[in-house]
Amino acid sequence: MAITKSITCRDAVALVSDYLDGGLTWRARRRLERHLADCGACTAYLEQMRVTVATAGTLTEDDLPDDVLNGLLDVFQKFHADPNAAS
Ligand SMILES: [Zn+2]
Repeated sequence: MAITKSITCRDAVALVSDYLDGGLTWRARRRLERHLADCGACTAYLEQMRVTVATAGTLTEDDLPDDVLNGLLDVFQKFHADPNAAS
């Protein structure tokens, strides 16, 4: 019997943000790390999240050029107006 039960990609993705926040128990972290060792997709997802969190943590609205900010707002507004229209 394995000491740690393996988790699915779905579980792994759900754990990633807590993992980056340091909010996981050692047991949950070990399960996630074991999954990551075997799963390139979730490893890539974790790296993407890590970069996103690191970037988002250092940026404020004032750091964004107006056209970028307006572009984002435009996307959000379109998305909220009709989620199926955003692509
Ligand atoms: Zn996975």
